[in-house]
Amino acid sequence: MTIDLVRSARKEFFNTGTVLQSYLYRTDGDLECLIGDGCRLRIVKGAYLESEKIAYPSKADVDRKYLEQAKKLLVRGRYPAIASHDAAIIDELKRFVASRGIDRKSFEWQMLHGIRRDLQRELLDEGFNVRVYLPFGEAWYPYFTRRLAERPANVLFILKSLFAK
Ligand SMILES: Cc1cc2nc3c(=O)[nH]c(=O)nc-3n(C[C@H](O)[C@H](O)[C@H](O)COP(=O)(O)OP(=O)(O)OC[C@H]3O[C@@H](n4cnc5c(N)ncnc54)[C@H](O)[C@@H]3O)c2cc1C
Repeated sequence: MTIDLVRSARKEFFNTGTVLQSYLYRTDGDLECLIGDGCRLRIVKGAYLESEKIAYPSKADVDRKYLEQAKKLLVRGRYPAIASHDAAIIDELKRFVASRGIDRKSFEWQMLHGIRRDLQRELLDEGFNVRVYLPFGEAWYPYFTRRLAERPANVLFILKSLFAK
């Protein structure tokens, strides 16, 4: 439904983009279709608890799909957004960008506000574009608790980042 909505919105508002989640089995198909449309895309691993019927349950599979899909976007996407804090994935993608001679300004890294600030600064210093994602508005509390409830690992991440530099 979301993708249909985006495709129809793009007829009037060309710049409308969307997010794809690598953990969903269907994402390869959606990616091809939306790259073909010239739609701006953000690729993420996926934050919510999904059934094995529709999503890869193992981190190794999600990471593998993420790399494949991010590479496809870097080569064929329209100013794509690579949204991740995973240092191993970012390193691999940086090597890919260098080996393919991809312009560092032809895409952007995205990270959540306050997470891996050191990595955000490092990427900026290396000449990449970095955008920081900051959800705001009156409904911040239900948004925040939903993220924690759906993925308890986020509680650990937050605790760890309180003590990180
Ligand atoms: C800009 C942006 C937009 C997003 N939009 C969506 C969306 O629309 N739909 C959706 O399903 N998901 C969205 N996500 C979340 C995404 O799906 C992942 O759940 C999230 O990015 C964690 O995955 P990772 O790639 O950082 O790798 P992971 O392997 O999960 O994490 C790598 C490392 O990053 C750090 N880290 C990761 N997440 C956090 C955190 N929350 N707090 C503190 N440290 C953390 C930890 O050190 C962790 O070990 C978005 C993420 C970003 C950055």
